[in-house]
Amino acid sequence: MSQNQSHPPELCPEELTGLKTGQAAHAAAGFTAVVKSLAHTWGLAGVGRGTRALALLNQHQGIDCTSCAWPDPDDHRSVAEFCENGAKAIAWEADSRKITRDFFARYSIEELGQHTDYWHGQQGRLTEPMVLRSGSKHYEPISWDDAFSLIAHELHRLDSPDQALFYTSGRTSNEAAFLYQLFVRAFGTNNLPDCSNMCHESSGTALNRTIGIGKGTVKLDDFEKAQVILILGQNPGTNHPRMLTALQKAKQAGAKIIAVNPLKEAGLLGFKNPQQLGGMLGWATPLADHYLQVRINGDMALLRGVMKLLLEKGQINTPFIQEKTEGFAELRESLEKLDWSTIVEQSGLTRESITEVAELLGKSERIIACWAMGLTQHKNAVATIQDVVNLLLLRGSIGKAGAGVCPVRGHSNVQGDRTMGIWEKPPKWLLENIEKEFGFRPPEHHGYDTVEAIRAMRDGRAKVFVALGGNFLSATPDTETTAQALRNCRLTVQISIKLNRSHLVTGQTGLILPCLGRTEIDLQASGPQFVTTENSMGVVQASQGRLKPASEHLLSEPMIVARMAEKTLGHKYGIPWLTLASNYDLIRERISRVIPGFENFNQRVRQKGGFYLPNPPREGHFSTASQKAIFSVSPLLEWHLQPDQLLMMTIRTHDQFNTTIYGLDDRYRGIYQERRVILMNAEDMKRLGLEEKSLVDLHSHYNGVTRTAKRFVVLCYDIPRGCTATYFPETNVLVPLDSTAEFSHTPTSKSVVITVSQHVG
Ligand code: SF4
Repeated sequence: MSQNQSHPPELCPEELTGLKTGQAAHAAAGFTAVVKSLAHTWGLAGVGRGTRALALLNQHQGIDCTSCAWPDPDDHRSVAEFCENGAKAIAWEADSRKITRDFFARYSIEELGQHTDYWHGQQGRLTEPMVLRSGSKHYEPISWDDAFSLIAHELHRLDSPDQALFYTSGRTSNEAAFLYQLFVRAFGTNNLPDCSNMCHESSGTALNRTIGIGKGTVKLDDFEKAQVILILGQNPGTNHPRMLTALQKAKQAGAKIIAVNPLKEAGLLGFKNPQQLGGMLGWATPLADHYLQVRINGDMALLRGVMKLLLEKGQINTPFIQEKTEGFAELRESLEKLDWSTIVEQSGLTRESITEVAELLGKSERIIACWAMGLTQHKNAVATIQDVVNLLLLRGSIGKAGAGVCPVRGHSNVQGDRTMGIWEKPPKWLLENIEKEFGFRPPEHHGYDTVEAIRAMRDGRAKVFVALGGNFLSATPDTETTAQALRNCRLTVQISIKLNRSHLVTGQTGLILPCLGRTEIDLQASGPQFVTTENSMGVVQASQGRLKPASEHLLSEPMIVARMAEKTLGHKYGIPWLTLASNYDLIRERISRVIPGFENFNQRVRQKGGFYLPNPPREGHFSTASQKAIFSVSPLLEWHLQPDQLLMMTIRTHDQFNTTIYGLDDRYRGIYQERRVILMNAEDMKRLGLEEKSLVDLHSHYNGVTRTAKRFVVLCYDIPRGCTATYFPETNVLVPLDSTAEFSHTPTSKSVVITVSQHVG
């Protein structure tokens, strides 16, 4: 039976904001990026506070950028070691405007719900704990003590610790994350869903299975040593802008770049380096030598076509394969059976263009493969990333300088949080080490990941939801289902810096606990503290806030976790929660005894630039059971859509970081002042009777359920036939909760089957 779900407007207002269009850019950054960086920073934080924050951003002894997880150079740091998006992130946090109790007295929850996510972020910093009591329309102040008592009371009321969920966002520091997972396990559950369940879980799963570590293997200086850099499903110009500096250096050292993406992204075409006079004057370094505008989810077919050609031409590294890998014969057999008509149809590319890049790869031994959400959020994401590994293994391109895998992480400490034990499926060694250090046996049964957590709330199996950062409602799929799931809870707790939509959809009781930002002075009983993070390349480094906190009532994340734990667990297991949170060196001492690779943590993290965590595949040692890298074989996923159907991927604008909306423009794509747009191929528009700027409704179709998102403006765009792109979170409502990647359970936000109809008002 067909069921129709439409999207209540208060979950995401549907009004249009005044679309303007221009030319798409052919290069990223340059003078405009500098102007935008300063305008954002000075506009939100003020000239003094803003300039001070920028001067400290990504410097030794400074503040680690809260935005993406791209690494900083090991040795030298330039005066402006940040990008436009780093500046926007720091400005967003250093915002000098404030939300006080009067704000919540003025606006009801319903009124706040009518405003956009952009408006929410523009209201300033949260300044004191607030509670939304059952039946009330307004948040009201609550003391920290009462807030922690309320949490403890609701946790104690549960029939089982597994009825509580503890979510983590990728901004959380190592210290807060370690304490949090310790509290959750001491409470008695492994329900630790996190944002990586929705982004690079597919990468971690694929890499763990094939090379024995769920992380990338390259360092920043490998880029200058590479012969070829393959960039799949990634838009570095917007999402990891300082990666462009690494790509520029690689090009200057002679590397070739192959970009694989359904959209022609400015940051893959060229880079105007704002650190150089030429870049400021508008001269761009061309980046991609080959640009393959693959169909959405056509990467797997492309990779297999390339590997088939390498095998046919004997361009494989046989000694490496024999010595370091297993499973080659099965891979060869499966590729031999694959026919070219399927490869061409499913990739959306010509055989000639695939042959061109195969020839380049066949001549190269030092290949780096980078990717992001364009690979990870599909049903076959794990298998596709395993194909990336297959390709590199065929060329012997893992475990040597200038070569390896590089999943580029989107949030500054998402990798570190997992290292610290934020994992619903904890490995045995972690539980044993916790038992040895803290004297209690943590639960072994697996907890819920993000999708399972939503299902548990929806079905009444979970009743308390705590979020350490993030904007859960906007980050997750199937917005209406997630909203209902949150409403089913007895208590929802959001530990936050600024107002967001997750504060407006709560359990019977909702708490907002405002915390210090990474930019701010974190003063505890033992003095000012610093925290640590781990970037995409496994470097652990310190970050010390230097700005005056937005309010005297803010607590740090480690202290919030410690007080929550102390109030809930008391002296159970004798863990000195408040002592640990009063001196983060004490937390780091515990980490050094529980997490491998963190020996002498306090000493090594004080070294300039921090330290690298061990990464055996980087040195050519694979940490699998057989000590060999594994070739993988899987069926090719084929798409056969109905004539009226399109494949939709959700993307970010340039004025956006994950769910944080800094502005309404998507400058590089030439789209301004409007987020409710759908990018379509000209032929699809003609076929479906649509014109430029037609107003349409979007409908996704999954397992007999139709989900609808209303009021989108059609824009003709350079995108392969049958493919469309829309911005999230506006179209998260179309992403079915139950449509997830095999093995990693990541929502398939990049391949949603939709139809489009004229808008019905
Ligand atoms: S590249 Fe990423 S980490 Fe670096 S400044 Fe930009 S947003 Fe921050």
